[in-house]
Amino acid sequence: MSQDSPAQTSSLKIYFRLLGYVRPYIGMFALSIVGFLIFASTQPMLAGILKYFVDGLNNPNASMFPGWPIVGGLHLVQAVPLMIILIAAWQGVGSFLGNYFLARVSLGLVHDLRVALFNHMLRLPNRYFDANNSGHLISRITFNVTMVTGAATEAIKVVIREGMTVIFLFASLLWMNWKLTLVMVAILPLIALMVTSASRKFRKQSSKIQSAMGDVTHITSEAIQGYRVVRSFGGETYEQQRFLDSSTANTDKQLTMTKTGAVYTPMLQLVIYSAMAVLMFLVLWLRGEASAGDLVAYITMAGLLPKPIRQLSEVSSTIQRGVAGAESIFEQLDEPAERDEGREERERVQGRLEVRNLTFRYPGTEKAVLEGIDFVAEPGQMVALVGRSGSGKSTLANLIPRFYQHEEGEILLDGLEIQDYRLNNLRRHIALVTQHVTLFNDSVTNNIAYGDLAGAPMEQVKAAAEAAYADEFIQRLPQQYDTQVGENGVLLSGGQRQRLAIARALLKNAPLLILDEATSALDTESERHIQAALDRVMQGRTTLVIAHRLSTIEKADLILVMDHGRIVERGSHGELLALNGYYARLHAKQFEEVAPVAPTSHAE
Ligand code: ATP
Ligand code: MG
Repeated sequence: MSQDSPAQTSSLKIYFRLLGYVRPYIGMFALSIVGFLIFASTQPMLAGILKYFVDGLNNPNASMFPGWPIVGGLHLVQAVPLMIILIAAWQGVGSFLGNYFLARVSLGLVHDLRVALFNHMLRLPNRYFDANNSGHLISRITFNVTMVTGAATEAIKVVIREGMTVIFLFASLLWMNWKLTLVMVAILPLIALMVTSASRKFRKQSSKIQSAMGDVTHITSEAIQGYRVVRSFGGETYEQQRFLDSSTANTDKQLTMTKTGAVYTPMLQLVIYSAMAVLMFLVLWLRGEASAGDLVAYITMAGLLPKPIRQLSEVSSTIQRGVAGAESIFEQLDEPAERDEGREERERVQGRLEVRNLTFRYPGTEKAVLEGIDFVAEPGQMVALVGRSGSGKSTLANLIPRFYQHEEGEILLDGLEIQDYRLNNLRRHIALVTQHVTLFNDSVTNNIAYGDLAGAPMEQVKAAAEAAYADEFIQRLPQQYDTQVGENGVLLSGGQRQRLAIARALLKNAPLLILDEATSALDTESERHIQAALDRVMQGRTTLVIAHRLSTIEKADLILVMDHGRIVERGSHGELLALNGYYARLHAKQFEEVAPVAPTSHAE
């Protein structure tokens, strides 16, 4: 067992790193070790009492501790029952100390790891979320962390309690009859051999189970989030099959693991009992001078050995399971956070946005999604991006708050490259309404005043909602601003959700506003509302609007027409129409599709 394979060293490293998390709880940890030591010490004592019991059958009035002061006068008939009770009480104390304090350590550990993972997750770059599915991320925080505690604490408990029990029992055995005991030792290597062979197998199984569990979570959460699509496209059978497959895979893997354990444990027991049989034979053979009590106590102690040894042999699987869980936890913790090397901080920027010769590829892909993008938005101006789906509009919008890192070209905010800003300072200057509106399962107020804005005065929240034309519908909700919006705002209409998102951006009052318009068709009424909201929002700030309905952007100072990641035309609405090119065609097409609606008067 001395030559370390790379896998062994790495799992040792992981285990020690895990133990590092125990450091803050070292006091409680020490207490629990003391508890387990106490517990372990009582095992040979209880067996030892049997000697006095059996000897006492012949001579109940002999002294238990002949020659000792005070207790020397105790007869066996009183001393044996008394000692049993005392030892049991002592064992109880040990058991309580050990279990209680170890549980505190382990719960603290789960808590710390969970919090560390969650906090780190908040700082991971966007591409990490693109590359890892949410089910696996979630199950790492919920499931893996608990598995890891299994290793960190169950294993420690068993190692200390059962390990010490074995040592104490063994020492007592040696003391009582060393010849017999040495014979037993000869059998130990056999047991050790079995332990190592099984532990390797367990580890492999257990990391497989974890990924299978992640799949189950992932498929479930996709089916839940996408239940509308599942229903309307008749995806039930497909989802059923997919779930069935992953659940079956999980069951199979669990079963394999259980099977390995189930075969392995009785085999080990067989070895141990064979050893016992040999022992019995030897005891009867080599009886010598020993009294009946000595022999009974000896056999009892030897009989107490297999259980802790078996538990010790199982501990490796617990440790391996935990190490497998810890491995993926540490992998995620070691994932580099968003790059934040800029040191510049500005209290307030003017909002001049300049993009120079920007080319961008998503990490790990070949094709440039943006190529040679060049434009300037002066403070207070409105710049619109139009172009067909997939032309790179949202990508450009995502680069400005540095959701992704650009490598070629420059993006300057007030003349300073955005990479030179401190990340949270940069983002403070930008209000973003994303293409997919995200709302939290919370009240309307808390959805508008989210994050840095939390706790904003109610008047400001209301003012923002009014400016976003959201106030009128909020007033009609059952509890107005206290209404819960449901998961991701399901209780609201698409237009209402968008107006809440706009209100949120408005409350932020940032000098640079980026609006990624949702493609979903809104009815003309909502559209008019949103249009009016946007007109108001844009006043006094630089705005980058990504528009699918060209009617939204006729007033823009500059319209950039994008195609395949390049700007193919630029100018004002009038200029572009006169150019009679791409934009003009796009415009004509939309005009055909959307039959002009006569403005109707309406009371609000
Ligand atoms: P739409 O009008 O439909 O919103 P868009 O102009 O906003 O389209 P983008 O979302 O910028 O288009 O996508 C541009 C290209 O980049 C697409 O070809 C898309 O496949 C690719 N893309 C988008 N997001 C990612 C990502 N996270 N990783 C890799 N490629 C991506
Ligand atoms: Mg888009």
